[in-house]
Amino acid sequence: MNVAYCNVALPVPLRMVFTYAVPEELRAQVQVGCRVLAPFRKKSMVGVITGLVDGAPAGTKIREIIRVMDLFPALTPKLIELGQWIAGYYLAPIGEVFRGMLPPVTELTARREIVLTEAGGSLAANLRDGKTLTDLSTSQVDFLRKLLDKKGIMLLAPAARLGIALGEFQRIQRRGLVEIRESLRGRKRKTHNIIAWKTTDPSAGNRPEKEERIRQLLQAERGPLPMPQLLKLAKVSRALIERMLRDGLLESWDESIDPAEDPFDVGYTPPAHSLNQAQARVFDAIRARFELGEFGVQLIHGVTGSGKTEVYLRSVQDTLARGKTALILVPEIALTLWIGRQCRAWFGARFEGVAVLHSALSDVERAREWWRVRNGEARVVVGTRSAVFAPLENLGLVIVDEEQENSYKQEETPRYHGRDVAIVRAKLENALALLGSATPSMETYHHAVNGKYELLTMATRVENRSLASAEVVDLRSEFQQTQLISPISKSLHNAISECLSFQTQALLLINRRGYSWSVLCRSCGASVQCANCSISMTYHKNRNRLECHYCGSLQPVPKACAKCQSKYVYFFGEGSEHLEERLRKEFPGARIARLDRDTVRTKQQYQETLGAFASGALDILVGTQMLAKGHDFQRVTIVGVVSADSSLSMPDFRAAERTFQLLTQVAGRAGRGDLPGRVLIQTFYPEHYAIQDAVRQDYLSFYERELNFRRMMAYPPFTSLANVIVRDSNLENAIRWSRRLSEYFAPHDNKGLRVMGPASAPLARLKKEHRFQFLLKSQKRTLLTKLLSGAMTFCDAKEIPQTAVLVDMDPLTLM
Ligand code: ADP
Ligand code: ZN
Ligand code: ZN
Repeated sequence: MNVAYCNVALPVPLRMVFTYAVPEELRAQVQVGCRVLAPFRKKSMVGVITGLVDGAPAGTKIREIIRVMDLFPALTPKLIELGQWIAGYYLAPIGEVFRGMLPPVTELTARREIVLTEAGGSLAANLRDGKTLTDLSTSQVDFLRKLLDKKGIMLLAPAARLGIALGEFQRIQRRGLVEIRESLRGRKRKTHNIIAWKTTDPSAGNRPEKEERIRQLLQAERGPLPMPQLLKLAKVSRALIERMLRDGLLESWDESIDPAEDPFDVGYTPPAHSLNQAQARVFDAIRARFELGEFGVQLIHGVTGSGKTEVYLRSVQDTLARGKTALILVPEIALTLWIGRQCRAWFGARFEGVAVLHSALSDVERAREWWRVRNGEARVVVGTRSAVFAPLENLGLVIVDEEQENSYKQEETPRYHGRDVAIVRAKLENALALLGSATPSMETYHHAVNGKYELLTMATRVENRSLASAEVVDLRSEFQQTQLISPISKSLHNAISECLSFQTQALLLINRRGYSWSVLCRSCGASVQCANCSISMTYHKNRNRLECHYCGSLQPVPKACAKCQSKYVYFFGEGSEHLEERLRKEFPGARIARLDRDTVRTKQQYQETLGAFASGALDILVGTQMLAKGHDFQRVTIVGVVSADSSLSMPDFRAAERTFQLLTQVAGRAGRGDLPGRVLIQTFYPEHYAIQDAVRQDYLSFYERELNFRRMMAYPPFTSLANVIVRDSNLENAIRWSRRLSEYFAPHDNKGLRVMGPASAPLARLKKEHRFQFLLKSQKRTLLTKLLSGAMTFCDAKEIPQTAVLVDMDPLTLM
């Protein structure tokens, strides 16, 4: 190939690719999907080649790419196509889309190596001894010999430096004589050396400045640290640390950083079961779909505990047996570990392996897993949202578990929905997409009912276990009887007592963290608002301060009202911290833990708490939504929802759907093992259909009622929505730009779509920015996309900065 120019997507917030010239000596190496180093403004950046072009656009100064970083493309052609679709559909800067698809840049060509395979090694040895004749060219033979001399390993470099032409190299690679491998330094080292402060008495003696700095760090500021981090933060030498270790001032131990470590690793792997009737029927339907060998979408609507995982695993097995690869997406990190573990038990030994991809991995870990997939070593990937970009080839099956989960939506640029991208990817790769849920999203179920997706139903729990019975606790009558508002009603209290006396476990959900989520003045009614956002500050008792949960800003706890100086400030609305405190008072003997973003700052803490609960070392676990999903706790007999109303009263068209989903899922947490379970839902609106249908676990009834509401209001699934936010820290700018943008939108109103706005956004201020909102609705998605891409061009022409306009296609919330 002899190309003179290529288009490169660079990780900058601009909706365009850049054309570069390819210098003579790099021409043989450029391929679509390869990463390149290219000059941009005053820096150089790593981008991806999206296309090879003959000519350059006239009139612009074309610069040259500096280096090609890949010998074979990092991104497959299908992934390039997928990235382009995302950029077009979600109106996202294409370079930022690709940045999310690539392995971490910390890991570059320098660490990739060429290795001699067994076949290559014996051939090279024989050639040297003159034992064999060969059809290889002289340069190929020379190369193999050189490789043998270097003990079979060489760093990967541009072909010119390797002394062999790219084509010749690729031929011996295809014949399996050499391989390209990632040599990650982190590969063998699966532990961190952790350093901690040992002396218990910090005042002992006058310490030299450097030692004092280390003490500060390890004892007060950070806690125990991995060696490299400590060296960096304290700016001291390794020798000093080593001496302090010898002197007994510090201690050290090794801690595992293996992503395979998981909180459920309490020596229990669920056995493989033979499928029951419902599972077998669904699995047959999936296999029938495989036989067709074409794209399709199936939805497994299976109640919680119906055994969907078992069906997933068999489908993956079937896919592998057909020589294809499989991708399993799950909504949260803990589930990647849980499902990943089952996958390894199933496929680890028989097939090349399973890779796990999620955002909590370090760069090294993520790069290792990524390249294992890219090199075909792993043929099953389990991961969260961004794993939808896993570089699998020959993809046969994409599973999206709990497809209704909001965590599949990325709420920052590029704002894509992982489930929807999974379906598009399946389509591009001619694969089967398998969605699973106990409470499918309105959109998905609507497609299933209309026949666009195939509906597969599993209506009963395995082994005829009963669905946990859910009960409503009517807080209105509770209040009339007791005149008290407590986060723990009498019924809930009694249920927990009973559970403690039977030595089973209770799980309590509350969807706000902190102690109180509002601070009000009784005299004038003023509440304490964040200085940067239009939202009230949350009181955290433990840390004795107010925090904004949107921007993280802090304020001291007020002793008097800032407005009227009255001393009657009070705290309102119980959060998780408050609930934990009450539980400790009401159940003094119980072993209680709390799981929310305040108690769990690290992966380790998260694993410890969940592990402790799973192993029975805790009686009561209090937590936020983190707890609602998927975990298979065997001894939970009581699940309490402290307030169903906080999600129901959100000013959002999905409030009912979200509440129904949450309550149904939570209900599914009880009675997973052999013990029957009870679910208590506390609410002030017991007659709302989202609550009633959740209590009866009647999905169809909810779907019908909610569908009516959506039809009446012209919301999805009847229309497509786009939310456009115009924002700036300067109020006048925000107003000016939204006015200007409205000049573009207004003439399009009522021409197959509706334009509402500009109006002040529900969160009118966020992180110091003023926000205005347009809401666009249409029955034809293509109309929306066209209008929006026109809007982007308009913004460029009218000098509205691209960063001031935020487009959210298919928004999950309108806040
Ligand atoms: P879901 O994901 O549908 O909520 P799971 O896949 O977690 O349900 O399965 C629930 C439990 O049932 C698991 O403990 C699983 O091991 C068990 N299970 C699955 N299939 C069967 C079966 N055919 N017979 C007995 N137990 C099963
Ligand atoms: Zn006041
Ligand atoms: Zn704030």
